[in-house]
Amino acid sequence: MDRAKLYRRFRTLLIANRGEIACRVIRSARAMGLRTVAVYSEADRDAMHVALADEAVLLGPARARDSYLNIERVIAAARETGAEAVHPGYGFLSENAEFANACFEAGLVFVGPTAAMMTAMGSKSGSKALMETAGVPLVPGYHGEAQDDATLAEAANRIGFPVLVKASAGGGGRGMRVVKSASELSDAIVSAKREAKAAFGDDRMLIEKYVQNPRHIEVQIIGDSHGNLLSLWERECTLQRRHQKVIEEAPSPTLNATQREAVCAAARKAAAAVSYVGAGTIEFVSDGKDVFFIEMNTRLQVEHPVTELITGVDLVEWQLRTAFGEALPLKQDEIKLNGHAIEARVYAENPQKNFMPSVGKIKTWRTPPEGDGLRIDAGYRSGDQVSPYYDAMLAKVIAWAPTREGAIEKLNRGLEETDVRGIVTNIPFLSALVTHPSTRSNAIDTGFIERELTKLTAEKGEAGAFELCAAIAAIVNDEQRAARAEAHSPWQTFGWMPVGRRQRVLSFRQGHGAEQKVTLRYGGGVPTVSVGDRDYALATSASDEAGFDLTLDGTKSRVAAVIEGHELYLRTRNGRFDLHWVDPFGGETEEQVGEDKIVAPLPGTVVALLAEEGATLEKGAPILTLEVMKMEQTLRAPYAGVLKKLKCKVGDIVGEGVELAEVEPAAAS
Ligand code: ADP
Ligand code: ADP
Ligand code: MG
Repeated sequence: MDRAKLYRRFRTLLIANRGEIACRVIRSARAMGLRTVAVYSEADRDAMHVALADEAVLLGPARARDSYLNIERVIAAARETGAEAVHPGYGFLSENAEFANACFEAGLVFVGPTAAMMTAMGSKSGSKALMETAGVPLVPGYHGEAQDDATLAEAANRIGFPVLVKASAGGGGRGMRVVKSASELSDAIVSAKREAKAAFGDDRMLIEKYVQNPRHIEVQIIGDSHGNLLSLWERECTLQRRHQKVIEEAPSPTLNATQREAVCAAARKAAAAVSYVGAGTIEFVSDGKDVFFIEMNTRLQVEHPVTELITGVDLVEWQLRTAFGEALPLKQDEIKLNGHAIEARVYAENPQKNFMPSVGKIKTWRTPPEGDGLRIDAGYRSGDQVSPYYDAMLAKVIAWAPTREGAIEKLNRGLEETDVRGIVTNIPFLSALVTHPSTRSNAIDTGFIERELTKLTAEKGEAGAFELCAAIAAIVNDEQRAARAEAHSPWQTFGWMPVGRRQRVLSFRQGHGAEQKVTLRYGGGVPTVSVGDRDYALATSASDEAGFDLTLDGTKSRVAAVIEGHELYLRTRNGRFDLHWVDPFGGETEEQVGEDKIVAPLPGTVVALLAEEGATLEKGAPILTLEVMKMEQTLRAPYAGVLKKLKCKVGDIVGEGVELAEVEPAAAS
């Protein structure tokens, strides 16, 4: 095997990535005394990773292929800044053998395996063939060269339905379709191929038996250039949506000690088959009893922090040390497993709207303090822009405790105390997911989220009197703070009382609900709030970063509030509430949402037209497929009618709000 690889001590590291992973790598590199160089696209001029690095180089336009995926530009950026090594992070060029090779040719240390190891393990088909030879258990399936329809159909029939059709070059859960019966096979192959071609430039497919009630179990491994290879226990990532991990934990709560030892040994065997150097992950799917190899990821993984928290190892530091050519500092029996860690991926997306990505400016970004078992790996701050060009993951909240139950509690608390506003995030969904009884009892499989979706995305509760009082206190506190911006005198109660008794009426609305009037009386003794026919005595502390204490009729409770213009986001003991403060003077008109128009919800690429002009459409019939932020979104007929006009063609890059098709409603008869 080609071992062409540089290992040497370096002092300047270029991080060929963005977002949380770039920030994460910069932190460890800096702690080791390295100089760090960031790269960025035109959309990321003000991004956090650019601000964190010692130097930063503009690669090019926003589109990934013009910037973060542009090998020549990344290599040139390293040359310009005197960087001697490149860390690829995950995604982007991290599993690109051509890039690893280009680094080698340019005399740069690539922090990762050699191009040859990547090529051997990069394709799912190739790696399965290798594992078969090495005696690692595989899912029954077809991973041969021949790709004609007849061969694939014959293979699927032989394996037996349900099967999973997978892009050999796939990643991020893309280019994959579960097929329940022979009649669905050819459509599934066509659409998986289309997705794979667009995403990976390679539409070769493999077919696997679809494991029933599947669980995802993977093993962290790391090898050095001295022939040492270690496993750092396993992670379980069974909570997935569309084959993408959402919550990950370590160790797996499903395996017993014997199974744990077996899966780690199988992973070491798999990595040893390519004399692996660097950090990597061997992924398995399990039916709860046996584990079967599915793929290897030749890079650092999104969920690596849970492994760090149970082992105390800084994996990025170890990656850099192995790239220096050092030997791994510990032996296998020195890798101890301590406690339990769990991670949740925070995405800019709307679970209520089929997880549609959300873009825009982050107006508020507040996270609880780290430490005491809580870790937050973020790539964004207040004021940052979430653009439609890249993956929508914003941050990871990670918690550690001696027990699984403790770690779940801590994670939920961390999520509850995280407020991100301006864009929509999946944080409430993550809270519902980690606290779900089936998650707590580990009665899950990879289909769990899909089955429980309605429950997990249930609308929030209705704001009650407590929330309305909290809304008033938040507004008054906010006005106070504005008024006292210069004077620094702290105040403890409703200190804004002018002379004489006063009364103020405020109106709030939640969603499309009715307006609720609340009356505040103050100026004569204890302020009171009237909601409906009830009066409450109210007191509040001054607000700090984390919120304020609200005392209602003698009971004190914590409230966190974010106010953006007339929008109030409250977190009370009853959960999260979004309220609109109805301005009595402003003309309050409902924004007309163009739900009857077929428009691009976000900038994207048209990848398929699914109906022809003139076609008669049922309500909900698919019209076209748009790829938005690496996700396919099918736009459908808003009502029954005739497809009057298609205003786009496959391959068009369309901006947000652009009308893509016109449907004429069927005449009401
Ligand atoms: P992990 O197994 O580390 O969780 P994922 O498969 O979820 O990794 O992918 C990690 C990140 O890289 C995600 O943001 C995903 O969208 C992205 N990604 C994965 N594979 C590819 C690929 N081949 N091309 C582009 N992006 C990818
Ligand atoms: P990717 O490169 O997109 O991560 P994987 O092959 O790792 O692709 O598969 C993604 C997810 O799909 C896995 O984490 C697992 O949950 C599920 N999966 C993969 N193969 C199978 C299978 N044969 N049976 C059931 N589920 C599977
Ligand atoms: Mg995978």
